[in-house]
Amino acid sequence: MNKKVTNPLLEPGELPQFSNIKPFMIKPAIEQLIEQNRTAISALTAQPRHDWDSLIKPLELMNDRLDKAWSPVRHLNSVKSSPELRDAYNSCLPVLSEYSTEISQNHALYQAYREIEASEEFENFDAAQRKTITDALLNFRLGGVELEGEARERYQQLQKDLSELQSSFENNLLDSTQAWQYLTEDPAELRGMPEYALSMLRQLAEQKNLPGYRLTLDMPCFLAVITYAENRDLRKEIYEAYVTRASDQGITDKIWDNAGNMQQIVAKRQEKAKLLGFANYAEYSLETKMAESVEQVTEFLQDLAAHSREAAIGEVDERQAFAESMGFEGSLQAWDYAYYSEKLKQQRYRISDEDLKPYFSDNRVINGLFEIVARLYQVRITGVDDEVDRWDDAVSFYQIEDRNGDVIGRFFLDLYARENKRGGAWMDECINRYRIDGKTQVPVAYLTCNLTPPIGKEPALFTHDEVITLFHEFGHGLHHMLTRVDVPDVAGINGVEWDAVELPSQFMENFCWERDALILFARHYQTDEPLPDELYRRMIDAKNFQSALQMLRQIEFSLFDIRLHQQTDISSAEQIQEILDEVRSEVSVVTTPKINRFQNGFSHIFAGGYAAGYYSYKWAEVLSADAFAAFEEEGIFNPETGQRFLQCVLEKGGSRPALESFRCFRGRDPQIDALLKHSGIN
Ligand SMILES: [Zn+2]
Repeated sequence: MNKKVTNPLLEPGELPQFSNIKPFMIKPAIEQLIEQNRTAISALTAQPRHDWDSLIKPLELMNDRLDKAWSPVRHLNSVKSSPELRDAYNSCLPVLSEYSTEISQNHALYQAYREIEASEEFENFDAAQRKTITDALLNFRLGGVELEGEARERYQQLQKDLSELQSSFENNLLDSTQAWQYLTEDPAELRGMPEYALSMLRQLAEQKNLPGYRLTLDMPCFLAVITYAENRDLRKEIYEAYVTRASDQGITDKIWDNAGNMQQIVAKRQEKAKLLGFANYAEYSLETKMAESVEQVTEFLQDLAAHSREAAIGEVDERQAFAESMGFEGSLQAWDYAYYSEKLKQQRYRISDEDLKPYFSDNRVINGLFEIVARLYQVRITGVDDEVDRWDDAVSFYQIEDRNGDVIGRFFLDLYARENKRGGAWMDECINRYRIDGKTQVPVAYLTCNLTPPIGKEPALFTHDEVITLFHEFGHGLHHMLTRVDVPDVAGINGVEWDAVELPSQFMENFCWERDALILFARHYQTDEPLPDELYRRMIDAKNFQSALQMLRQIEFSLFDIRLHQQTDISSAEQIQEILDEVRSEVSVVTTPKINRFQNGFSHIFAGGYAAGYYSYKWAEVLSADAFAAFEEEGIFNPETGQRFLQCVLEKGGSRPALESFRCFRGRDPQIDALLKHSGIN
């Protein structure tokens, strides 16, 4: 017998062959594809003339080919991890990142794109083709392709320095987080903490072979202690340890102080922005976002703050009065806020996850979600029983048909938490929509959650938060799958501005709070009785509990971020503290203890991708609330409104600026009113 082992990554079928992908096949396949691409790109750029068919089309094909090999690997590494797979995956990361840097700095390729932009052909392109070219050119420029000589070297050095500084920031934070612990064997010290939290603390102790309870600064533990522990000294201790991580304050070692990293990161970002011709890093960051200018972002945040301030002061007073009614004397401090807020919330709404869970059983929720989508967009979602290759028996596969019965999208749904599956929830692209040689490649999505799995024969019962998570990710999925754009670089979520990409996902969340939508699926799993009115009312009231305070907190972080990245003369950590203090004096309605070094642990902006972009959370919320308000005005299942949203937003993907899509749907620019109303602030 002469049986040749084929590499499924090099010979992809219509869908990935998950069960045939073995770790040893991964790196050779990726390296081979990248090598082929390199050779092909050299040949392409060496051609005397460039146009869409001779340059962009072959590039699209190459990218699609590489995506089809890498996407299932990336996915398997997240949902069915093993040490061998992780090693194979990690070994490809530097190869892929080197390749993408190489492309973004390829001067010949850049010139070829410019030639197309300047050609007569460009005038006849459709919107998607034009945006593909202009997006690519912008990425080349932001990647430093136009820099030469010393400037080019300096740019590359800055990139390298920044990646090291950012990872040092993250490491300091991690080390100082792990350096603190609090041990006790006396349950009386932990009075007030719920059973789930106590078992978490016991588990944390067991992990270190210690008896009793172990408190750490990991988020779930910190939150549980600060929210529930009756012991005020303990709350104060964990608060101070948490807010002084990686700083010159507190008890952990000063060798982890991030002050130097922060100053250096901001200074080098500014230098990079200047090299690329921007006045400051905030402007550089906004170049690829929907928001038009730093002034617009600042005004947007200040406007939201002004509208929320009075309500937030009311919330603070109410909490203080409540604490006093419980016998508290003096002013509440930072380590008291969460504790008394939770007590007040419980007293007022008496609503818990356990009350709601029987009304959110798995099949009812999923069918309800599909029904809502069907009503909104006149599509039909059905399960596919074929022998589709899956990575786990719990995964199901579905298709979406439009009103003509044509299949326009397909998706894998992997709902439940499982061993060797990464936590969290996300949507990822499996296959992109792509029209080539008269045929359309139908988009395929991975929808992944970590919901509570079913036990025995009973259906899985979800918390309301879990239901929201599912709807959210499905919104991203619809953006990917309902697109009608044929050019892959701007189809679906590709090419959508960063601060607008959460619009379709947050939009879907709204249906989890609507009576008329809940009636479709929120029914008792045993009796089929619909969610009682009284429970629904408490759920809505609890939703907006202290929403103004939360709003101000997000605005404080966002304003600090944008202002910091406007500042081109940061030479010390003290200056950073001053900017934060100034923002707090403008926005905050609570006092922050002197010892607090929140900024030293703000990894979203210092180590992650949110630099001069933290405002995006609020920005996208305004867009999604305002979009949903159109449905509130015209009927939440109004098919005409649904078609308009489909055609103006979902189908268009990244083929035009998000603001144009929004205006097409709403007939005007976004307004903050709907978000304020949905948050119970007027
Ligand atoms: Zn999202």
